[in-house]
Amino acid sequence: MTQTPSSANTRRTHTRPGGLTTAAAPESNEGLIAGNFIRQAIVDCLNAPSEPEQDSHGTTTIRRRWAGRPALAHELGETAADPARIRTRFPPEPNGYLHIGHAKSICLNFGLALDYNGRCHMRFDDTNPVKEDQEYVDSILDTVQWLGFGWDSAGESNLYYASDYFEWCYQLAEALIEAGHAYVDSQTAEQMRAHRGTLTEAGTDSPDRQRSATENLELFREMRAGRHAEGSHVLRARIDMASPNMNLRDPVLYRIRFAHHHRTGDAWCIYPMYDYAHPVSDAVENITHSLCTLEFEDHRPFYDWVLERAAESGFVQRPLPRQIEFARLNLAHTVTSKRKLHELVNTGVVSGWDDPRMPTLVGLRRRGYTPESIRLFCERIGVSKAHQWVEPAVLEQCLRDDLDAKADRGIAVLDPLLLELEGIDSLYDAPCTAPVHPHHPERGQRLLHLTNAVWIEREDFAIEPPKGFFRLFPGNRVRLRYGCVIECTGYEADAQGQVIKVRARVLPDSRSGTPGADQYKVKGNIHWLSARDAVAAEVRLYEHLFKAADPDSGEGDYKDGLNPEALRSVRAWVEPSAAQASPEARFQFERHGYFVADRRDHQALAPVFNRCVTLKDSRGR
Ligand code: ATP
Ligand code: MG
Repeated sequence: MTQTPSSANTRRTHTRPGGLTTAAAPESNEGLIAGNFIRQAIVDCLNAPSEPEQDSHGTTTIRRRWAGRPALAHELGETAADPARIRTRFPPEPNGYLHIGHAKSICLNFGLALDYNGRCHMRFDDTNPVKEDQEYVDSILDTVQWLGFGWDSAGESNLYYASDYFEWCYQLAEALIEAGHAYVDSQTAEQMRAHRGTLTEAGTDSPDRQRSATENLELFREMRAGRHAEGSHVLRARIDMASPNMNLRDPVLYRIRFAHHHRTGDAWCIYPMYDYAHPVSDAVENITHSLCTLEFEDHRPFYDWVLERAAESGFVQRPLPRQIEFARLNLAHTVTSKRKLHELVNTGVVSGWDDPRMPTLVGLRRRGYTPESIRLFCERIGVSKAHQWVEPAVLEQCLRDDLDAKADRGIAVLDPLLLELEGIDSLYDAPCTAPVHPHHPERGQRLLHLTNAVWIEREDFAIEPPKGFFRLFPGNRVRLRYGCVIECTGYEADAQGQVIKVRARVLPDSRSGTPGADQYKVKGNIHWLSARDAVAAEVRLYEHLFKAADPDSGEGDYKDGLNPEALRSVRAWVEPSAAQASPEARFQFERHGYFVADRRDHQALAPVFNRCVTLKDSRGR
């Protein structure tokens, strides 16, 4: 199932239904072409006439105006045309931490704004007071900036909260009531459900649908004043109970909630529904292209309905924002539903939102992912309308491609076995040198002391070598990388037969970099660390959080697919220079992969490293 990208441009995406079927598109620029439908919409919009012009409905189109902040149409007056050619927005609900799927939306929205000399607004869709919290707001802002994007540009600071528009949403609702486009419905939730109809059957009108505007207005004002209990009334749009699109069957605009809001406190006890607040927020912010995931396609007619009514009543200016849908990103071997991520955190399956096994961006960051690698990933997967499943191998390759040039090299011995050397003489008083980076000599040299006891990897020694084993075994010669050639002279084992020590002698004049070094032809080359200098470290090795590629597809609970081996912690030895690195410093530990000093737990005296990714993808081979 798992595919290995063979080169930097390889993309592997998977489509459903019927389990994961592979639709690989190697070496193609399909992603770019597929993403073009959004770019095309933007270009069309930019080419639209900027002078006032009447369309066939007699609607006058003018260039959008911008007051330097969100505003209603009547506040815009003679304000100048919007200096931004396009405006997009990233609108998370602050009810959890951002995950890799959000990165796709962030890169798309902020990226398009950069490409077209536009602005991308950071907006919190905080219309549901029950689940939202400042903790999430703070983390989201931090993460978007960490990814390399910002909302301050060209003298504007475009950080907004949908809750700041509650008063406008309310005023528009009153205007809708007055114009006969909305009514207060006092049916119970159950009655409303029963009257909604089905996909094949029209709904039936509520007995309250014919309430007069005056009565509706009075009731709605009482709702706002807190005079009615939760669930006793809702405000609904008056559209069409027989519409084939269920979303147009008089959708709810407002509900009563006596809940404390993380920003507006107790100022409100009625809250607008997302589908109503969203178009209003887009319009007052001058958003030109409102990009959202495909499940909102059926909501678009209502999005447009709200905007048309708002423009008709003079609340918002034309031209109106346009909603465009794209496919969400699904990463195999993980879950991204916020409900499930909350559950993993709350039940202690993971240590927190930033557990390196989590698909959250704080988790990926702690795992060692760089902002550049995540942006590269979003570029490689592209944007399309087709459901998209991506193997984690694609994400991992992006990290390798980014870290190869950046990460300093180092040595870590993850499964240590002691090697005693005989014949270390004064020649080795001077330390051996290894490049900090093999392709960047200017980054200097690391110093490694060869002493008479060194740590090697247990797997680099065999009592009886299997066929093709070129490393250490009794009588065999190998090179200690950057050091010298040695010959194995024996070993010691404990009562259980477990090897506890290996012995070898140093061959004369074999020191790397000296004239005699080439006289010995050896096939094996192993890494080592001086037992005197090496620093003990905890190294955490990670696998996929779920064994199942699509944990949600099965009959049972998604947690049945959890991988108990997703975290393995080992006692290892690392080079002193790595131990002294600051948290978040990244290394390529030779032969083992890329590692990061843990942001939370790493200290020079007690180093903790997380493996970000192995050197090659060896899964599924
Ligand atoms: P949930 O439904 O689990 O709460 P959500 O998708 O509604 O999550 P939001 O915070 O509302 O989460 O999302 C903010 C933005 O990120 C939205 O515009 C949404 O379309 C986009 N987004 C969320 N998940 C993905 C994904 N997997 N792929 C692409 N875009 C996504
Ligand atoms: Mg949402």
